[in-house]
Amino acid sequence: AATPLSGEERVEERQDRAIRPRMLADYIGQPIVREQMEIFIGAARARGEALDHTLVFGPPGLGKTTLANIIAEEMGVQIKSTSGPVMEKAGDLAAMLTNLEEGDVLFIDEIHRLNPAVEEVLYPAMEDYQLDIMVGEGPSARSIKIDLPAFTLVGATTRAGLLTSPLRDRFGIVQRLEFYNVDDLSHIVARSGRLMELELDNAGAREIARRARGTPRIANRLLRRVRDYAQVKGTGIVDQDIANAALNMLNVDAQGFDHMDRRLLLTLMEKYDGGPAGVDSLAASIGEERDTIEDVLEPYLMQQGYITRTPRGRIATKLAYLHFGLDLPSRFNS
Ligand code: ADP
Repeated sequence: AATPLSGEERVEERQDRAIRPRMLADYIGQPIVREQMEIFIGAARARGEALDHTLVFGPPGLGKTTLANIIAEEMGVQIKSTSGPVMEKAGDLAAMLTNLEEGDVLFIDEIHRLNPAVEEVLYPAMEDYQLDIMVGEGPSARSIKIDLPAFTLVGATTRAGLLTSPLRDRFGIVQRLEFYNVDDLSHIVARSGRLMELELDNAGAREIARRARGTPRIANRLLRRVRDYAQVKGTGIVDQDIANAALNMLNVDAQGFDHMDRRLLLTLMEKYDGGPAGVDSLAASIGEERDTIEDVLEPYLMQQGYITRTPRGRIATKLAYLHFGLDLPSRFNS
Protein backbone atom coordinates (compact mmCIF):
# COMPACT_ATOMS: atom_id res chain seq x y z
CA ALA A 1 0.00 0.00 0.00
CA ALA A 2 1.25 3.45 -0.86
CA THR A 3 -0.60 5.34 1.88
CA PRO A 4 1.69 6.99 4.45
CA LEU A 5 2.66 4.43 7.06
CA SER A 6 3.22 4.82 10.77
CA GLY A 7 6.61 3.75 12.14
CA GLU A 8 5.31 0.42 13.34
CA GLU A 9 3.70 -0.34 10.01
CA ARG A 10 6.94 0.49 8.21
CA VAL A 11 8.86 -2.05 10.29
CA GLU A 12 6.15 -4.59 9.62
CA GLU A 13 6.26 -3.88 5.89
CA ARG A 14 10.01 -4.50 5.82
CA GLN A 15 9.74 -7.73 7.79
CA ASP A 16 6.85 -8.77 5.64
CA ARG A 17 8.73 -8.47 2.37
CA ALA A 18 10.61 -11.68 3.13
CA ILE A 19 7.48 -13.74 3.73
CA ARG A 20 5.04 -12.23 1.22
CA PRO A 21 4.20 -14.85 -1.41
CA ARG A 22 5.51 -13.95 -4.88
CA MET A 23 3.82 -16.47 -7.14
CA LEU A 24 0.29 -17.79 -7.38
CA ALA A 25 1.50 -21.22 -6.26
CA ASP A 26 2.55 -19.73 -2.89
CA TYR A 27 -0.76 -17.89 -2.44
CA ILE A 28 -2.38 -20.09 0.17
CA GLY A 29 -6.16 -20.51 0.37
CA GLN A 30 -8.68 -18.55 -1.76
CA PRO A 31 -9.03 -21.57 -4.12
CA ILE A 32 -11.59 -19.94 -6.40
CA VAL A 33 -9.54 -16.78 -6.86
CA ARG A 34 -6.42 -18.80 -7.49
CA GLU A 35 -7.99 -21.09 -10.04
CA GLN A 36 -9.58 -18.24 -11.96
CA MET A 37 -6.48 -16.06 -11.92
CA GLU A 38 -4.37 -18.98 -13.14
CA ILE A 39 -6.64 -19.31 -16.17
CA PHE A 40 -6.97 -15.59 -16.93
CA ILE A 41 -3.25 -14.96 -16.51
CA GLY A 42 -2.31 -18.04 -18.55
CA ALA A 43 -4.65 -16.99 -21.37
CA ALA A 44 -3.49 -13.36 -21.45
CA ARG A 45 0.14 -14.50 -21.47
CA ALA A 46 -0.47 -16.96 -24.29
CA ARG A 47 -2.09 -14.22 -26.37
CA GLY A 48 0.68 -11.80 -25.50
CA GLU A 49 -1.85 -9.30 -24.21
CA ALA A 50 -2.21 -7.27 -21.04
CA LEU A 51 -4.46 -8.92 -18.45
CA ASP A 52 -7.95 -7.40 -18.16
CA HIS A 53 -8.45 -4.78 -15.45
CA THR A 54 -8.95 -6.55 -12.15
CA LEU A 55 -10.83 -5.43 -9.05
CA VAL A 56 -9.96 -7.16 -5.79
CA PHE A 57 -12.10 -6.54 -2.77
CA GLY A 58 -12.21 -7.76 0.81
CA PRO A 59 -11.37 -6.68 4.37
CA PRO A 60 -7.85 -5.39 5.19
CA GLY A 61 -5.01 -7.89 5.45
CA LEU A 62 -6.56 -10.65 3.32
CA GLY A 63 -4.05 -10.39 0.47
CA LYS A 64 -5.21 -7.76 -2.02
CA THR A 65 -1.81 -6.04 -2.37
CA THR A 66 -0.12 -9.43 -2.43
CA LEU A 67 -2.37 -10.60 -5.27
CA ALA A 68 -1.67 -7.44 -7.29
CA ASN A 69 2.08 -8.08 -6.97
CA ILE A 70 1.63 -11.73 -7.90
CA ILE A 71 -0.31 -10.75 -11.03
CA ALA A 72 2.61 -8.58 -12.17
CA GLU A 73 5.14 -11.30 -11.33
CA GLU A 74 3.17 -14.00 -13.15
CA MET A 75 2.62 -11.75 -16.16
CA GLY A 76 6.31 -10.90 -16.18
CA VAL A 77 5.68 -7.15 -16.03
CA GLN A 78 6.42 -4.24 -13.73
CA ILE A 79 4.05 -3.01 -11.08
CA LYS A 80 3.58 0.64 -10.17
CA SER A 81 1.66 1.18 -6.95
CA THR A 82 -0.31 4.08 -5.58
CA SER A 83 -3.49 4.63 -3.64
CA GLY A 84 -6.74 6.51 -4.11
CA PRO A 85 -6.29 9.23 -1.48
CA VAL A 86 -2.67 9.92 -2.50
CA MET A 87 -3.65 11.15 -5.97
CA GLU A 88 -5.10 14.58 -5.39
CA LYS A 89 -5.16 15.95 -8.92
CA ALA A 90 -5.85 14.52 -12.37
CA GLY A 91 -2.20 15.26 -13.16
CA ASP A 92 -1.02 12.86 -10.42
CA LEU A 93 -2.75 9.98 -12.16
CA ALA A 94 -1.64 11.23 -15.60
CA ALA A 95 1.96 11.09 -14.40
CA MET A 96 1.56 7.48 -13.25
CA LEU A 97 -0.16 6.45 -16.48
CA THR A 98 2.43 8.00 -18.77
CA ASN A 99 5.16 6.16 -16.87
CA LEU A 100 3.73 2.73 -17.67
CA GLU A 101 5.25 0.35 -20.15
CA GLU A 102 3.40 -2.14 -22.34
CA GLY A 103 1.57 -4.70 -20.18
CA ASP A 104 2.47 -3.13 -16.83
CA VAL A 105 0.26 -3.35 -13.78
CA LEU A 106 -0.95 -0.14 -12.20
CA PHE A 107 -2.06 -0.95 -8.67
CA ILE A 108 -4.42 1.50 -6.96
CA ASP A 109 -5.13 0.63 -3.35
CA GLU A 110 -8.24 2.11 -1.72
CA ILE A 111 -9.55 2.86 -5.17
CA HIS A 112 -12.93 3.84 -3.71
CA ARG A 113 -11.28 6.97 -2.33
CA LEU A 114 -10.33 8.46 -5.70
CA ASN A 115 -11.20 12.09 -6.15
CA PRO A 116 -13.97 12.32 -8.84
CA ALA A 117 -11.77 14.49 -11.08
CA VAL A 118 -9.06 11.79 -10.98
CA GLU A 119 -11.60 9.04 -11.56
CA GLU A 120 -12.76 10.79 -14.76
CA VAL A 121 -9.24 10.42 -16.18
CA LEU A 122 -9.30 6.73 -15.40
CA TYR A 123 -12.34 5.92 -17.56
CA PRO A 124 -10.83 6.52 -21.04
CA ALA A 125 -7.51 5.17 -19.80
CA MET A 126 -9.14 1.89 -18.82
CA GLU A 127 -11.42 1.66 -21.80
CA ASP A 128 -9.29 2.83 -24.73
CA TYR A 129 -5.81 3.23 -23.22
CA GLN A 130 -6.22 6.93 -23.85
CA LEU A 131 -5.17 9.79 -21.66
CA ASP A 132 -7.61 12.63 -22.12
CA ILE A 133 -6.64 15.59 -20.02
CA MET A 134 -7.08 19.35 -19.80
CA VAL A 135 -3.94 21.44 -19.66
CA GLY A 136 -3.70 25.14 -18.91
CA GLU A 137 -6.38 27.35 -17.44
CA GLY A 138 -8.94 29.89 -18.56
CA PRO A 139 -9.01 30.83 -22.27
CA SER A 140 -5.76 28.99 -23.03
CA ALA A 141 -7.04 25.71 -21.57
CA ARG A 142 -7.17 22.86 -24.06
CA SER A 143 -7.68 19.14 -24.00
CA ILE A 144 -4.91 16.83 -25.13
CA LYS A 145 -5.12 13.14 -25.94
CA ILE A 146 -2.21 10.77 -25.50
CA ASP A 147 -2.09 7.08 -26.40
CA LEU A 148 -1.11 4.91 -23.47
CA PRO A 149 0.43 1.45 -23.61
CA ALA A 150 -1.94 -1.44 -22.95
CA PHE A 151 -1.83 -1.86 -19.19
CA THR A 152 -3.68 -3.66 -16.41
CA LEU A 153 -5.33 -1.68 -13.67
CA VAL A 154 -5.57 -3.65 -10.45
CA GLY A 155 -7.83 -1.87 -7.99
CA ALA A 156 -8.24 -2.84 -4.35
CA THR A 157 -11.05 -1.87 -2.03
CA THR A 158 -12.57 -3.09 1.19
CA ARG A 159 -16.10 -3.22 -0.19
CA ALA A 160 -17.08 -3.39 -3.87
CA GLY A 161 -20.23 -1.41 -3.05
CA LEU A 162 -18.13 1.66 -2.33
CA LEU A 163 -17.16 2.09 -6.00
CA THR A 164 -19.16 4.22 -8.40
CA SER A 165 -20.86 2.03 -10.96
CA PRO A 166 -19.05 3.49 -14.01
CA LEU A 167 -15.77 2.55 -12.38
CA ARG A 168 -16.93 -0.89 -11.27
CA ASP A 169 -18.28 -1.64 -14.75
CA ARG A 170 -14.86 -1.08 -16.33
CA PHE A 171 -13.25 -4.03 -14.55
CA GLY A 172 -13.30 -7.23 -16.58
CA ILE A 173 -12.26 -9.39 -13.62
CA VAL A 174 -13.67 -9.02 -10.13
CA GLN A 175 -12.30 -11.09 -7.26
CA ARG A 176 -13.69 -11.19 -3.77
CA LEU A 177 -11.33 -12.37 -1.04
CA GLU A 178 -12.85 -14.38 1.80
CA PHE A 179 -11.67 -14.78 5.37
CA TYR A 180 -9.23 -17.71 5.61
CA ASN A 181 -10.11 -20.90 7.43
CA VAL A 182 -7.90 -22.26 10.22
CA ASP A 183 -6.27 -24.87 7.96
CA ASP A 184 -5.16 -22.27 5.42
CA LEU A 185 -3.98 -19.88 8.12
CA SER A 186 -2.01 -22.71 9.75
CA HIS A 187 -0.24 -23.23 6.43
CA ILE A 188 0.50 -19.54 6.18
CA VAL A 189 1.89 -19.43 9.73
CA ALA A 190 3.99 -22.57 9.15
CA ARG A 191 5.38 -21.14 5.92
CA SER A 192 6.21 -17.80 7.56
CA GLY A 193 7.83 -19.67 10.46
CA ARG A 194 10.06 -21.56 8.02
CA LEU A 195 11.09 -18.36 6.25
CA MET A 196 11.82 -16.76 9.62
CA GLU A 197 13.88 -19.85 10.57
CA LEU A 198 11.73 -20.36 13.60
CA GLU A 199 11.17 -23.65 15.39
CA LEU A 200 7.43 -23.97 15.31
CA ASP A 201 5.36 -27.14 15.69
CA ASN A 202 1.97 -27.87 14.12
CA ALA A 203 -0.02 -27.29 17.29
CA GLY A 204 1.71 -23.96 17.83
CA ALA A 205 0.97 -22.86 14.27
CA ARG A 206 -2.64 -23.92 14.66
CA GLU A 207 -3.10 -22.04 17.90
CA ILE A 208 -1.92 -18.83 16.22
CA ALA A 209 -4.08 -19.54 13.16
CA ARG A 210 -7.18 -20.07 15.28
CA ARG A 211 -6.78 -16.69 16.88
CA ALA A 212 -5.90 -14.61 13.81
CA ARG A 213 -9.39 -13.35 12.86
CA GLY A 214 -9.27 -15.23 9.54
CA THR A 215 -6.60 -12.76 8.36
CA PRO A 216 -3.06 -13.55 7.12
CA ARG A 217 -1.68 -10.15 8.13
CA ILE A 218 -2.85 -10.71 11.70
CA ALA A 219 -1.54 -14.29 11.69
CA ASN A 220 1.93 -13.08 10.68
CA ARG A 221 1.83 -10.27 13.22
CA LEU A 222 0.83 -12.65 16.02
CA LEU A 223 3.56 -15.06 14.94
CA ARG A 224 6.20 -12.32 15.40
CA ARG A 225 4.92 -11.50 18.87
CA VAL A 226 4.76 -15.16 19.85
CA ARG A 227 8.34 -15.55 18.62
CA ASP A 228 9.40 -12.69 20.92
CA TYR A 229 7.64 -14.32 23.82
CA ALA A 230 9.20 -17.73 23.11
CA GLN A 231 12.63 -16.15 22.95
CA VAL A 232 12.35 -14.36 26.29
CA LYS A 233 10.09 -16.62 28.33
CA GLY A 234 10.87 -19.99 26.76
CA THR A 235 13.57 -21.72 24.77
CA GLY A 236 12.71 -20.06 21.46
CA ILE A 237 10.62 -22.99 20.30
CA VAL A 238 6.99 -22.19 19.55
CA ASP A 239 4.59 -24.93 20.63
CA GLN A 240 0.97 -24.79 21.70
CA ASP A 241 1.67 -23.83 25.31
CA ILE A 242 3.98 -20.98 24.38
CA ALA A 243 1.58 -19.75 21.69
CA ASN A 244 -1.30 -19.94 24.10
CA ALA A 245 0.50 -18.06 26.86
CA ALA A 246 1.77 -15.39 24.46
CA LEU A 247 -1.64 -14.83 22.90
CA ASN A 248 -3.30 -14.56 26.29
CA MET A 249 -0.75 -11.95 27.24
CA LEU A 250 -1.61 -10.10 24.02
CA ASN A 251 -5.27 -10.09 25.01
CA VAL A 252 -6.37 -12.06 21.96
CA ASP A 253 -9.16 -14.32 23.14
CA ALA A 254 -9.88 -17.93 22.15
CA GLN A 255 -12.13 -16.77 19.32
CA GLY A 256 -9.48 -14.40 17.97
CA PHE A 257 -11.38 -11.32 19.10
CA ASP A 258 -9.23 -8.42 20.11
CA HIS A 259 -9.98 -5.50 22.37
CA MET A 260 -12.03 -3.60 19.77
CA ASP A 261 -14.13 -6.62 18.78
CA ARG A 262 -15.00 -7.23 22.40
CA ARG A 263 -15.77 -3.58 22.96
CA LEU A 264 -18.16 -3.49 20.01
CA LEU A 265 -19.97 -6.67 21.02
CA LEU A 266 -20.21 -5.74 24.70
CA THR A 267 -21.47 -2.24 23.89
CA LEU A 268 -24.11 -3.66 21.59
CA MET A 269 -25.27 -6.11 24.27
CA GLU A 270 -24.96 -3.98 27.38
CA LYS A 271 -25.78 -0.52 26.15
CA TYR A 272 -28.24 -1.29 23.36
CA ASP A 273 -29.77 -4.40 24.86
CA GLY A 274 -28.43 -6.44 21.94
CA GLY A 275 -29.73 -4.04 19.28
CA PRO A 276 -30.86 -3.19 16.77
CA ALA A 277 -28.38 -0.34 16.96
CA GLY A 278 -27.38 1.93 14.09
CA VAL A 279 -23.75 1.88 13.04
CA ASP A 280 -23.34 5.61 13.72
CA SER A 281 -24.58 5.26 17.31
CA LEU A 282 -22.25 2.31 17.82
CA ALA A 283 -19.33 4.26 16.37
CA ALA A 284 -19.99 7.15 18.75
CA SER A 285 -20.34 4.81 21.73
CA ILE A 286 -17.05 3.01 21.20
CA GLY A 287 -15.15 6.02 19.85
CA GLU A 288 -14.32 4.46 16.50
CA GLU A 289 -14.83 5.63 12.93
CA ARG A 290 -17.88 4.26 11.22
CA ASP A 291 -15.59 3.01 8.41
CA THR A 292 -13.49 1.00 10.85
CA ILE A 293 -16.61 -0.71 12.12
CA GLU A 294 -17.88 -1.46 8.63
CA ASP A 295 -14.55 -2.41 7.03
CA VAL A 296 -12.60 -4.05 9.84
CA LEU A 297 -14.69 -5.10 12.84
CA GLU A 298 -18.05 -6.06 11.47
CA PRO A 299 -17.16 -8.31 8.51
CA TYR A 300 -15.43 -10.86 10.70
CA LEU A 301 -18.02 -10.71 13.48
CA MET A 302 -20.75 -11.26 10.90
CA GLN A 303 -18.89 -14.07 9.17
CA GLN A 304 -18.45 -15.78 12.53
CA GLY A 305 -22.12 -15.31 13.35
CA TYR A 306 -21.84 -12.92 16.32
CA ILE A 307 -23.61 -10.00 14.71
CA THR A 308 -26.33 -9.76 12.11
CA ARG A 309 -27.22 -6.75 10.05
CA THR A 310 -30.86 -5.74 9.66
CA PRO A 311 -32.43 -2.67 8.02
CA ARG A 312 -32.95 -1.26 11.53
CA GLY A 313 -29.38 -1.79 12.68
CA ARG A 314 -26.96 -4.33 14.09
CA ILE A 315 -28.11 -7.15 16.36
CA ALA A 316 -26.05 -9.33 18.69
CA THR A 317 -26.75 -13.04 18.20
CA LYS A 318 -27.19 -15.73 20.82
CA LEU A 319 -23.60 -16.80 20.13
CA ALA A 320 -22.39 -13.38 21.27
CA TYR A 321 -24.16 -13.68 24.63
CA LEU A 322 -22.83 -17.19 25.11
CA HIS A 323 -19.28 -16.15 24.25
CA PHE A 324 -19.25 -13.55 27.02
CA GLY A 325 -21.31 -15.66 29.44
CA LEU A 326 -24.05 -13.02 29.60
CA ASP A 327 -27.66 -13.78 30.44
CA LEU A 328 -29.73 -14.29 27.30
CA PRO A 329 -32.38 -11.62 26.76
CA SER A 330 -35.97 -12.87 26.66
CA ARG A 331 -36.18 -12.61 22.86
CA PHE A 332 -34.09 -15.80 22.63
CA ASN A 333 -36.51 -17.78 24.81
CA SER A 334 -39.27 -18.37 22.31
P1 ADP B 1 -4.37 -6.29 1.88
O1 ADP B 1 -3.73 -5.61 0.71
O2 ADP B 1 -5.61 -7.04 1.51
O3 ADP B 1 -4.58 -5.41 3.06
P2 ADP B 1 -1.86 -7.76 1.96
O4 ADP B 1 -1.77 -8.23 0.56
O5 ADP B 1 -0.98 -6.63 2.35
O6 ADP B 1 -3.37 -7.45 2.37
O7 ADP B 1 -1.58 -9.05 2.90
C1 ADP B 1 -1.07 -8.95 4.19
C2 ADP B 1 0.02 -9.96 4.38
O8 ADP B 1 -0.55 -11.24 4.59
C3 ADP B 1 0.90 -10.13 3.15
O9 ADP B 1 1.97 -9.28 3.14
C4 ADP B 1 1.33 -11.59 3.19
O10 ADP B 1 2.52 -11.77 3.92
C5 ADP B 1 0.18 -12.23 3.89
N1 ADP B 1 -0.72 -12.91 2.95
C6 ADP B 1 -1.83 -12.38 2.38
N2 ADP B 1 -2.45 -13.28 1.61
C7 ADP B 1 -1.74 -14.41 1.67
C8 ADP B 1 -1.88 -15.72 1.10
N3 ADP B 1 -2.92 -16.03 0.32
N4 ADP B 1 -0.94 -16.65 1.38
C9 ADP B 1 0.09 -16.35 2.19
N5 ADP B 1 0.29 -15.15 2.78
C10 ADP B 1 -0.61 -14.18 2.53
